[in-house]
Amino acid sequence: MNKPMKADGRANIERWKFGPDWPGRRCSARTRSGKQCQKPALKGKKRCQLHGGKSTGAPTGANNGNWKHGQFTKEVLQRQHRDRAVLQLLRTMWPLIAKLQGGTATTADVRNLRRLEAIFDNYE
Ligand SMILES: [Zn+2]
Repeated sequence: MNKPMKADGRANIERWKFGPDWPGRRCSARTRSGKQCQKPALKGKKRCQLHGGKSTGAPTGANNGNWKHGQFTKEVLQRQHRDRAVLQLLRTMWPLIAKLQGGTATTADVRNLRRLEAIFDNYE
C-alpha cells in the first residue's frame, strides 16, 4: 500500500484517506496473519479487489464444474417447492369442500375456504 510518509520516513496517519477513523465498509477477508484486511471494500461488495471483490462468483448451470444432471437447479427446486405448496393447500381445502358439499360447513369453514381459494388462484 502507498503510505504517505513524513520526511523522517514514519507513516503520517493524519494523511491516510482510509485510516483508522474512515467510516466506510472494510473488506471482510482475513489476511494470512489472521487479521481482518484493512482495505476498503469495493462499492456494493464485501471484499476489496485483492480479495475477490471484482469476482462475479462461480459460473451457474452447466458451465459450473460441479454440474451433474440439472435436477437440482434453482428452477427445478423452485418448481418442486411451489408444487409441494399447492399440494399442501389442496390437502387443507379438500375437507372443507367435502363439508360444503355435505351441507355441514359452518360460516367459518366457508370463509376459510374462500381465503384458501384466493391463495390457490395466485399459484395458477
Ligand atoms: Zn481485502
